Amino acid sequence: MSSSLLTGIMMDRPLLIRDILLHAERTCPDQEIVSVTGKGTYHRTTYGETFRRARKLANALEELNIRPGDRIATMAWNDYRHLEIYYAVACSGSVCHTINPRLTPEQITYIINHAEDSWLFTSINFMPLLETILPDIPNVKGFVILMDEEDGTITDLPRAIAYETLLAPASDKYEWPEFPETSASSLCYTSGTTGRPKGVLYSHRSTVLHTMMCNLSASIGLSEMDTVMPVVPMFHVNAWGVPYSAAMAGAKIVLPGPHMGNGELLQELIELEQVTVGFGVPTIWLALLHYLETSGKSVDSLIRIYTGGTASPRHLMDTFLRQYGVDTVHLWGMTELSPLGTLNQAEVRTDLSYDERMDLRCMQGRPAFGVEMKLKDDVGQTVPHDGKTPGFLYVRGYAVCRGYLGPVGDENETSAHSSHDKEGWLNTGDIATIDQQGYLRITDRAKDMIKSGGEWISSIELENLAMAHPDIVEAAAIAMPDKKWGERPLVIAVKKQGSTVIEQDLLNWYKDKLPGWMLPDKVVFVSELPHTATGKVVKSQLRSEIDRYLQNNHHTKGKSPEKKVHHSGLFM
Ligand code: ADP
Repeated sequence: MSSSLLTGIMMDRPLLIRDILLHAERTCPDQEIVSVTGKGTYHRTTYGETFRRARKLANALEELNIRPGDRIATMAWNDYRHLEIYYAVACSGSVCHTINPRLTPEQITYIINHAEDSWLFTSINFMPLLETILPDIPNVKGFVILMDEEDGTITDLPRAIAYETLLAPASDKYEWPEFPETSASSLCYTSGTTGRPKGVLYSHRSTVLHTMMCNLSASIGLSEMDTVMPVVPMFHVNAWGVPYSAAMAGAKIVLPGPHMGNGELLQELIELEQVTVGFGVPTIWLALLHYLETSGKSVDSLIRIYTGGTASPRHLMDTFLRQYGVDTVHLWGMTELSPLGTLNQAEVRTDLSYDERMDLRCMQGRPAFGVEMKLKDDVGQTVPHDGKTPGFLYVRGYAVCRGYLGPVGDENETSAHSSHDKEGWLNTGDIATIDQQGYLRITDRAKDMIKSGGEWISSIELENLAMAHPDIVEAAAIAMPDKKWGERPLVIAVKKQGSTVIEQDLLNWYKDKLPGWMLPDKVVFVSELPHTATGKVVKSQLRSEIDRYLQNNHHTKGKSPEKKVHHSGLFM
């Protein structure tokens, strides 16, 4: 580009999370933030009070000698204190490192040491976990326990202080500093289902841009009229950015604390607090739906739910709309994308029939503004966006990571070479099609595709079809080794309570819906599927256990496999 480009004469204000905080303080100080505590009681506060306490915390962090750039870890639920930490840490120039407490103690130890966390803030109920890993995290200088005064004194944990004790003497006068917008604000490690967890280091700029991307009306577009309930944990990808987007929009926030998967509590919260918008993985919404169906209760205030993290079953979206008038917006995203990638506002397609719109909803949607997508084949050639040809999905955008956190202080060591192509696009590890209107359909994670006789079979398609059966609650499809074809599909399903459906029924169900070579060879029923804390089925566990299961049950051909007891306990 020629050097004669003219520079615009506009202010060059840095994009800082501080500005979201200041904006909320100016425009909606009295808007409510409701949290459910560990004891099940409701705690009520406002944006004004939350940010006043965030200032006290910023002063307290200085007292603890925490410096700009230091990583401050959290192991905490969705509640007001976690929100205060989010803002106080990032806006004072340190980095809020949210840790998923559902990872293994080894992974958590690895993450804390890799990130070189200097302090750790933890909910009181993770104390046993903390005590387990304590000897292996010697570089953490101290621990702040998120607890009420009346919860008593802290155990004999060394270098520990209660959050309220830390805050009590601190002044609420604090001038949020200004610094370059590219400064790191928060850190989240991927779940490590494909190797070591990798650190995604968000910046103030990427976070503010992501918040604006979410708040466009063509996107999620929260408003002051909304009461938002993120049932996605604040320890994973910043609860899909809701703590920022709700504050920017002035929406009321309802935080369910440790009670995420409890359908009864979610229904109660929705009714009592008049929640209009919810965010969660399909498992959460299935739990709510199950409670609604069994209790006969309703969720009248609820207008929209956003679902992502894994493909959303059609019947989930259909039942919510038909029975409860709730619109489901299907999202696709990743930790690496902050996380918003695509979203599917199927309701805008008034040109389509109800059933056609429902089919459309099963796709992951079109890119949010600020996200670009392309497909490549296995030799790196571009794949056409014809809605049919699958390819490896690559993305780039305003809030997409350009590498992963290497040893801190070594900016070049970001291990980007394995995850990004030469042009700097991120390889998502997903296989997808994109149609001419820009709609994305994820057909699989590359590692979950089933290759039979050289042809790819989509595990997501097999799962969606199984879950469309009226007696099936959840299903996972995995590859079974096969001498002739290399791999053949096996479906592992959870049936509805009291259902008498058997393997052959489900195999017959598939018959007129797929070509012969795509049909699953076998169906196994289990009482439940193993999930990660972020709602994904742990297919690696299914793969390792299914081999043993099949060997154990080899001689029982013809008998109903669900009756067999497997020593892992997973397979019935
Ligand atoms: P991880 O830490 O495992 O990367 P993420 O939450 O970042 O966890 O997971 C991102 C992955 O989740 C995507 O690459 C994709 O495979 C899957 N995913 C997310 N949303 C959807 C969706 N709507 N449909 C299908 N897969 C999805």
